[in-house]
Formats: sequence, structure tokens, C-alpha cells
Amino acid sequence: MNTPPAVEIDGLVKSYRNATAVAGLSLRAERSQVTAILGPNGAGKTTTIETCEGYRKPDGGSVRVLGLDPIADARTLRPRVGVMLQSGGVPTTVRAAEYLRVMASFYARPLDPARLLDTLGLTGSARTPYRQLSGGQQQRLALAAAIVGRPELVFLDEPTAGLDPQARHATWELIEGLRAAGTAVILATHYMEEAERLADHVAIVDHGRLVADGTPASLTGTAGQLRFRAEPGLDTDGLLAALPAGSAAKESPAGHYLVERPEGIEPQLIAAVTAWCAERGVLAAKLQIESRTLEDVFLELTGRELRD
Ligand code: ADP
Repeated sequence: MNTPPAVEIDGLVKSYRNATAVAGLSLRAERSQVTAILGPNGAGKTTTIETCEGYRKPDGGSVRVLGLDPIADARTLRPRVGVMLQSGGVPTTVRAAEYLRVMASFYARPLDPARLLDTLGLTGSARTPYRQLSGGQQQRLALAAAIVGRPELVFLDEPTAGLDPQARHATWELIEGLRAAGTAVILATHYMEEAERLADHVAIVDHGRLVADGTPASLTGTAGQLRFRAEPGLDTDGLLAALPAGSAAKESPAGHYLVERPEGIEPQLIAAVTAWCAERGVLAAKLQIESRTLEDVFLELTGRELRD
């Protein structure tokens, strides 16, 4: 029999008393991959993850985790699945190292707690009681607790929210190490840079549904942009005529020029733009080549209006 995927969600529906949080979401996450779930606040990410963790019962559709039912098979799944809780559940007086040692003792083949503390920059806080740790330190300890049992699958809900750059990079390296060791990582995040760097697979959810999914490269596509600054009022129609078919050129705002091409920016296009400028004695300043980012795609799909 084929090994089941890490997570398979089919038509998940979950409502709270007055709101539909998840409205028919389907999603598959593979083993040995990082799957990032992106979505505006209220999109249903946490509800979806909590359903996979067995904390919530679906109203409709199905959820399989490592081929099993998160609620009915909870006892079988517990040692195989890591869960990073946002907060709570930790006795406030327990010291960081002691907490991690106790967590490790629940598993057959745990990672070395002291090494894990070191990897996450918590060695200096090993003897600090939980309640005296900073928010970022508590968060890293929660991450350590989620992975100390060498899970096959780990759910991380915004693991780097509010961390300083050093701690964020340490967390990223840890997640890359998990993937290399074969762990499936399901990561809910608001940081597009994080998703772009870490994710093999990105799922964008909004209003409780999947609105796009694929590799970061397949979502951003090949489209490219070339920007430059020059004197206002250049003849953009004339510029366009000098460019390969399919390009677009506009000036907005005054003195800021943008050339776009769905197939991406090629060397010939750059040469055509700079030659056109040179023939007119125009200096193209601050010339930049950019591709579409995951953030551009995210905002196109989910809109720019603020959410609660
Ligand atoms: P996200 O994690 O993407 O921000 P959530 O799954 O937390 O989304 O929330 C989805 C929707 O469900 C939101 O409208 C939220 O207000 C609502 N919701 C979440 N948790 C509860 C709850 N315990 N009781 C009632 N409504 C909830």
C-alpha cells in the first residue's frame, strides 16, 4: 500500500455558533515537505490546523493525518505528531530545561533536550522559570517541545511571530533541518518571506476556502517588471514600440517608469529599454529588475482591505 500523505483534507466544513470558519477546504500536505498555509486574519487557518490536531470535530468533510482520523486515532497519532501550542498549558514555575526534559521523557526516541535548547539559543535561560521567560523565549520553548519527540509531522502556527531576526533565522534553520530529516511541517504564517524561503508547497486560504496552491515559483509565475527613474513625460508609446511584443510600459507617478512582461524580463528587453533611452540622451536611473513576489500574489488573491 502507498504511504498516506502527511495530511489530507477533503471538503472540510467547520462553523462556530455564528460564523462559518472553514467552508469546504481541501488540501493535501506531503511528507518531507514544508507546507505553508497563508491567509488573512479570520481565513480559517487556525481552525483547520486545530481540526487536524484533533482539537475540533469537523461539521463536514474529512481530515486524515498520516492516514488516520485525528480524533478516533488520537492515541496512535500523539507520539507521531508535534503540536506547537500558541500559549498555555505550561506550569509557570517550571524551568525551561526541566520542562523540555519532561516533554522528551514521553517519547521513545527523543532529541537531546540540551542540544535543542542550544540550537534555539535558550541555553542561557535553561534554569529560568517559564513565567520569567520573554514572549520570544516562551515561543521557542514551545517549538522545542513540539519537535523534541522527533515527530513525523509537526504543526507550527506562526512560529516566528514577534521573534527578533536572530531567533527567526534559528527557527528557519531548525525547520529546514526537520524537513531534511523527513518530517512534514505544516506552517501557518503571515510572513511571505518565510513562506518563500521555507515552503515547498504554499496554500493560500481565504474565507475558509483554498484559493490557490502550488510551489512558490508556480504561484508567482514568470512575470517580471523593470523599473527606472528618468525625467517626466517620456514617450511611453514610443518606448513600447521598441520592445518585444507582449510588453507593457507606463509612467506612474511622474518620472517613475514601469515595463512589464508576462514571460519575464529577458536580457534583450533590458537592452531595448536602455538603447531607447541612450538614443534620446536619457539616463535610466535606479534601474531595477523584479519578479512578482508571493506577497504580490497574496494581495491580488485576497485583496488589500484590512481584516479584523
Ligand atoms: P485564522 O487562523 O486564519 O485567523 P481562525 O480559524 O482563527 O482563522 O478563524 C476563522 C473564523 O472563525 C473567524 O471569523 C473567527 O472569528 C472565528 N472563530 C475562530 N475561533 C472561534 C471560536 N472559538 N468561537 C467562535 N468563532 C471563532
